[in-house]
Amino acid sequence: MKNLLGGKGANLAEMNLIGVPVPPGFTITTEVCNEFYMIGQEEVVLLLKKEVEAAVAHIETLMNSKFGDIENPLLVSVRSGARASMPGMMDTILNLGFNDEVVEGLIRKTGNARFAWDSYRRFVQMYGDVVLGMKPINKEDVDPFEEILEKIKSEKGVELDNQLEVDDLKKLVTQFKVAVKERTGKEFPTNAYEQLWGAVCAVFNSWMNDRAILYRKMEGIPAEWGTAVSVQAMVFGNMGNTSATGVCFSRDAATGENLFNGEWLINAQGEDVVAGIRTPQQITKIGSQRWAELAQISETERAVKYPSMEEAMPSIYQELNTLQNKLENHYRDMQDMEFTVQEGKLWFLQTRNGKRTGAAMVKIAMDLLHQGVIDEKTAIMRCEPNKLDELLHPVFDKSALKSAPAIARGLPASPGAATGQIVFFADDAAEWAALNRKVVMVRIETSPEDLAGMAVAQGILTARGGMTSHAAVVARGMGKCCISGAGALVIDYKKRTVKIGDEIFKEGDYISLNGTTGIVYKGEIKTQAAEVSGNLSELMELCTKYTRMVVRTNADTPHDAIVARNFGAVGIGLCRTEHMFFEAEKIVAMREMILACNVEGRKKALAKLLPYQKADFKGIFEAMDGCPVNIRLLDPPLHEFVPHDLKGQEDMAKAMNVTPEYIHQRVDSLSENNPMLGHRGCRLGNTYPEITEMQTRAILGAAIELKKAGKDPRPEIMVPLIGIIFEFKNQEEIIRRTAAELFKEEGVEIEFKVGTMIEVPRAALTADRIATSAEYFSFGTNDLTQMTFGYSRDDIASFLPIYLEKKILPVDPFQVLDQNGVGQLIQMAVEKGRKVRPDLKCGICGEHGGEPSSVKFCHKVGLNYVSCSPYRVPIARLSAAQAMIEEDN
Ligand code: PEP
Ligand code: MG
Repeated sequence: MKNLLGGKGANLAEMNLIGVPVPPGFTITTEVCNEFYMIGQEEVVLLLKKEVEAAVAHIETLMNSKFGDIENPLLVSVRSGARASMPGMMDTILNLGFNDEVVEGLIRKTGNARFAWDSYRRFVQMYGDVVLGMKPINKEDVDPFEEILEKIKSEKGVELDNQLEVDDLKKLVTQFKVAVKERTGKEFPTNAYEQLWGAVCAVFNSWMNDRAILYRKMEGIPAEWGTAVSVQAMVFGNMGNTSATGVCFSRDAATGENLFNGEWLINAQGEDVVAGIRTPQQITKIGSQRWAELAQISETERAVKYPSMEEAMPSIYQELNTLQNKLENHYRDMQDMEFTVQEGKLWFLQTRNGKRTGAAMVKIAMDLLHQGVIDEKTAIMRCEPNKLDELLHPVFDKSALKSAPAIARGLPASPGAATGQIVFFADDAAEWAALNRKVVMVRIETSPEDLAGMAVAQGILTARGGMTSHAAVVARGMGKCCISGAGALVIDYKKRTVKIGDEIFKEGDYISLNGTTGIVYKGEIKTQAAEVSGNLSELMELCTKYTRMVVRTNADTPHDAIVARNFGAVGIGLCRTEHMFFEAEKIVAMREMILACNVEGRKKALAKLLPYQKADFKGIFEAMDGCPVNIRLLDPPLHEFVPHDLKGQEDMAKAMNVTPEYIHQRVDSLSENNPMLGHRGCRLGNTYPEITEMQTRAILGAAIELKKAGKDPRPEIMVPLIGIIFEFKNQEEIIRRTAAELFKEEGVEIEFKVGTMIEVPRAALTADRIATSAEYFSFGTNDLTQMTFGYSRDDIASFLPIYLEKKILPVDPFQVLDQNGVGQLIQMAVEKGRKVRPDLKCGICGEHGGEPSSVKFCHKVGLNYVSCSPYRVPIARLSAAQAMIEEDN
C-alpha cells in the first residue's frame, strides 16, 4: 500500500481502519506522479478530474460542508507523501479553498473572525510561496510575504504573529495579494478547484526540487518512486485556546529511551511547531520538567508559563497517550506522529516510523525485543548497518571536556560530539568542508535549503526551535550532533557573527557542541574513540548467533588490530606490509634497498629491514593472538618509496655513500608510465626474490619467537596481484624454501598457509588452476574493480560525478561492489577454486568488505569472511547477520 499511497497516505488509511481519528480525505497515487512527468500537467488534470471531484464530494458529505461554498465552506490540506519519509523536502499547502467570500462564511460558521482571517493569510502566503513560485531562491533575498508581515508587526509594535488583530490580518491578505499580482502578473485564484489543481501539481513538481533530489541522493531513494498527494479536510489548531497542534514520538528519537515525548503549541497550526517560529512547549510533564532544567527555568515559572499538555489539557492528553501507545503497538516500532486539537477534539494527521539516531535505533530494537514486541531476527533487521557508524564516532575526551569553557545551553536535539569552525550559510559550509575544514553550522533556525550544509557539518547549532524543529529532526536522521533552541545566541547573518553573553564569535572561530547534554563550548575539544558496550554489544552478540560469514579486519598496526578485535574482528584479513616501511629509520633502509644497483646491495639493505619487520609482525601477532593474521608480501610500485625532492635525494646519497647524481638517475629509472599496472605486486618478489625471502623470515621468525614464549601466532602469507599460476608458484617455492631453512635453524616449526590475492581478472578466470597451489583466496576488489572496469582507482574522480549524474553508473564501484561484473568474477573464482580444493577459504579485503550491500553479496556467494577497516567491523557483522536472515526467509 505504501508504494502506491506513499507512507503518509497508507498510514492515514490504516489509522482510520484501526479506529484512530483522522480527518476524512483521499490520496492520489505515486503512479500519477510518474504519469505527471510523462504526459504533463494538463493531461493529468483531465484524467483525474472526475475521480477527484467524486472524492471531494465524499469528504463534503462526511464533514457536512461544501468545498468553495460561501455559507458552509470546506477547507482542505494538500500534502506530499513518498514511499520513504522525506521530512520537509517537498511541499504542503494548508487551508485551501479560501477566498474573500469564503472567509466571511467561515466567520459566520465559527463566530471566530481572528481565526478565519489568520487561516486565510496563512493560505495566501503558502500558496504564493509554493504554487506561485514566490519563495526566494537566493539566500540573500527575503520572502516577500515575510517582509510584509514584519512591516505590519513593526508598525503595530508587536513581536509575535499571534499578537496581530483582525484588521491587521485583513491588511495582510490584501497586501499579500497585491504582492502576488506584482510578482506574477496574475490575480490570486479565487476558485476552489483551480486552487486545488494548482496545489496538487505543485506537490508533484516539488518531487523534482533541488532539495528533494539531494535528499534522495543521500538516502538512495529512486526518482521513479514518485510522491503521492493526500487531500484531507482541514482541522484547525488555531481556533482559540481549546485548540492546539503538536508533534510527538512514542519513544525518544535521540536516545531511544522508552518515554512518550513531544511538543505542542496552543492556538497554532502545524507548521508553527516544526518551523521553529515559536519555541513550543512539552507534551508530558516529565518532558517539560527536563526541558525547564536544561533551560534553567524554575519549576514555578515553568508550571505557570510553559505548562505541559498533560497539565494544561489533561483529558486530551490521556486520549493522545492512549492512541500513541495503540499506534506503536500496531506498527511495532517507534512512531513519529502529528496531531491537531480543534476545539477540544483530537485528530491525528500523520504517523510514521520515526527517524532516529544510531544509538536510538539500537536501543529501541533491543528494548522492543526485551518487551517481546519483536523477535531477535526482526531486531537485527531493524538496524541499518551504516547507521552504526554514529555509535562508533569519537566522543569528547573526558579530561579535555572538564577544562573547556561552557558558553551556552540548548536542547540536546541529537547526541554526539562536534568540534569545528563556525559557518552561517549552507554554501559556505560546503565550500569549507571541501577544503577539509571541519565546520559547525550556526543558524537562527534551519530550513530544508540548509540540507547540503548540514550534511557536511560536524554539528548544527540553532538559536530557535525545539526538539522537533527542522534542525533537530534532520540532524537525527543524519546521525549528526545537534543542539537546538540555544536562546542565548544572538546571530547576525549580515556581519557573520554570533553573540553569546558578552562575547562575539566570528565566522571561522572554533566552537564545540555536546549534543548529548546540549552544552555549547568555546574552542576546540579533543576527542577519543568510542567503544562497543551495552545495547550495541548485545546486538553484536545476536549477530554472531545468526551469522555464517565471519568478519576480519584490515590492520597494519597492533593498535588497529586491538581496536578491531574489541569490535569483534576474528582475525586480520589484510596486513599491508608496506605501511610499516614509512617510519623514520625504516624508510632509509627501504630506500637503500630500492636504490641499490645489484643483489648484494639489496640484500645488505634488507638485512637492516629484517629486524624492523620482525618487531612489527610480533606486535600484530600478539594483538591477534590465537587468530589468523594474513600478511601480504610487498605490493606497491617501488617508485612510491623513493625521494623525489632534491634534499631527500642528497640525504640518501650521504646515507649510501654515493653521488646525488646516481640517486637522481636511479629515481628516474624507476619511474613508470602506469605504475599501477607496472612493476608491483608479485612482480617485485619474482624479480627480487630476496625481498620475499626477507619478508618470510620476518613473518615466521616473529611467529617462532612468540611460539617459544607460549603464544599462539597463526600466520598466513599472501602473494599479491597474480595473474598466472606460475607467478604464484614461483613465490610459493621461495616462501616454503625459506621457511624450511628457518625452521631448521631455529629448531621450531610453525603452521602457516600460503595463499593469494585475486585482484587481476585473469586470476579469477583461471582460479581452478591457481587453487591447485594456493591454499586460500582473498579478493582484492580495489584492484579487481580497477582492472575489470578499466577505471584507474586514482583518477576516477575526474569523470565519476558526471557518470553518476548521467546515470551511466548507479554508484561509485570502488565503494559499492559491482555485483554484475566484478561480482560475477568473484562468484566464478570461488566456484572454480572449490572444485579443485573443496575446503578453499575465501575472503574479501578490498574496501567493499565494510559496505553493507557488498557484504551481503559476499555472504551469498559463499565467502568465509569479509575483512574491513576496524571502524567498519560492527557494520560488517550486522550486514553479515542480515544476509543470513534474508537467506533464511
Ligand atoms: C585491493 O586491491 O583490493 C587490495 C586490498 O589491495 P590494495 O588496495 O592495497 O591494492
Ligand atoms: Mg590490490
